Amino acid sequence: MKLVRYGSPGQEKPGLIDVQGRLRDLSGVISDIGPGQLGDDALAALRRLATADLPEVQGAPRLGSPLAGVGKFIAIGLNYADHAAEAGLPIPAEPIVFMKATSCIQGPDDPVMLPRDSLKTDWEVELGVVIGTRARYVLEADALSHVAGYCTVNDLSEREYQIERGGTWDKGKGCDTFGPLGPWLVTRDELPDPQDLAMWLDLNGRRVQSGNTRTMIFSVAKIVSYVSQFMTLLPGDVITTGTPPGVGMGMKPPVFLREGDRMALGIEGLGEQHQAVVGFKP
Ligand code: ZN
Repeated sequence: MKLVRYGSPGQEKPGLIDVQGRLRDLSGVISDIGPGQLGDDALAALRRLATADLPEVQGAPRLGSPLAGVGKFIAIGLNYADHAAEAGLPIPAEPIVFMKATSCIQGPDDPVMLPRDSLKTDWEVELGVVIGTRARYVLEADALSHVAGYCTVNDLSEREYQIERGGTWDKGKGCDTFGPLGPWLVTRDELPDPQDLAMWLDLNGRRVQSGNTRTMIFSVAKIVSYVSQFMTLLPGDVITTGTPPGVGMGMKPPVFLREGDRMALGIEGLGEQHQAVVGFKP
């Protein structure tokens, strides 16, 4: 299933994209798409619905984050060997884990706002993993059974804040608008192998990132298992799993986002995001 939330910011309704690609309203069935709707039983109940009987939504409403109520937004750094190389950093012996503020989450096509005085805002297309059931010290072999589904993520990053301002990466990762999710939450039954998905990002129509999840250093199963050794993963938590090569920081000379730029990004089977870059607004 492809689950979505559509409508004005803060007023989104739950929906799904049917096999013909039409948006169907789920608000008569569930109140929202959030932690309470992500367990296997809840998703199975949605899967049993006769989608043709659900109201079709007319027009092309804005899509919000396909998931409400995200408790933790966890990120993995340097998880593609060739991206680590372009960043000039060694391949990590263990996954690098950092947090993105949940207040940065927004819809897939909402504008991305440069932070105040930002000169080094950068892009990162990533596979997002949505946790469906509580995971605590899970084995790698069991890890994917705790996953509700997947979504495209743009892990926007302010490199000066991340790298030059001291301390952890988190300062450059959680700025407002730095977490577009979606367009869809694709349930895991539709993506039995998360380790073979093409992914890409275009800046102003030019392909800058091109990769595949098969070149991850640490697999999705490994990451879910690994993170669960340090914190309990709960339904609705999101883990974004690192970016392939082609970020602006790695270009010679580096390229960073400017007002008026346009990003388009996507992952095979998970849909596309389209973002305009806008200047800071207080
Ligand atoms: Zn990232």
